[in-house]
Amino acid sequence: MTPSPLPQTNFIEFLGTAGARYVTISQTRASGGIWISFEGTNLLIDPGPGSLIKCLEAVPKLEPSTLDGIIVTHKHIDHCNDINIMIEAMTLGGSKKKGKVFVPQDMLDEDSMLRKYACALPEEIISLKENGDYTLGSISFSTPLRHVHPVETYGLKFRFKERTVSFVADARYSDTMASCYKGDILILNTVLVQPFEHVDHLNIKDAGRLIADIRPQKAILTHFGRELLNKGPETFARQLTGETGIEVIAATDGMMVGL
Ligand SMILES: [Zn+2]
Ligand SMILES: [Zn+2]
Repeated sequence: MTPSPLPQTNFIEFLGTAGARYVTISQTRASGGIWISFEGTNLLIDPGPGSLIKCLEAVPKLEPSTLDGIIVTHKHIDHCNDINIMIEAMTLGGSKKKGKVFVPQDMLDEDSMLRKYACALPEEIISLKENGDYTLGSISFSTPLRHVHPVETYGLKFRFKERTVSFVADARYSDTMASCYKGDILILNTVLVQPFEHVDHLNIKDAGRLIADIRPQKAILTHFGRELLNKGPETFARQLTGETGIEVIAATDGMMVGL
């Protein structure tokens, strides 16, 4: 009898792949963010609507009280709707002061989703800045670039033991991106099929350009807008693989990637 595989201990799990408002409000794809576990440190990125439920429903379950930290890349609702409840869950209903919460400075403004009471629960609230370097247990990351997006937004670059993972959060394409996000795994929030005037999001052509310039081992498309989802993210991923010669995959809800 072959032994069943051990559960992965170092992984990235997509708790949602919805991008922008229509896919989020219809929940055609979930919007729970991205969970990273590495060498005993647990981190949640962008807890959008349904993040708590997606953690609890994950198989195996992702226990929110084991979180060591939460990052919000920017204050749009699809990235931070569940921030307060996730802080409560991380801190066992506020009974244990623990964890770090990383947010752009404008998340601390008056009208932000992040409530004042919730700011008092974790060990620390840390403001992200361009070119910042941060450590959370076994995970270290930087924010190499402030993105062109309607609110203060940062992408993330993680350095794990054997590989680097770049996460390009919501952004209008800029020429500086390729040099900022060199890495082995490249995750791209690709909302659009083609450019839309006045919409600061990456489209398929931008994604292709970044993949060709960065040449990661693997690129993962996620955060899909309505048109892209209707036309089939897998088709675009195959197209980009053909154009760049690099493995490009379209993320699905619940997808796990080993680290
Ligand atoms: Zn978004
Ligand atoms: Zn956004």
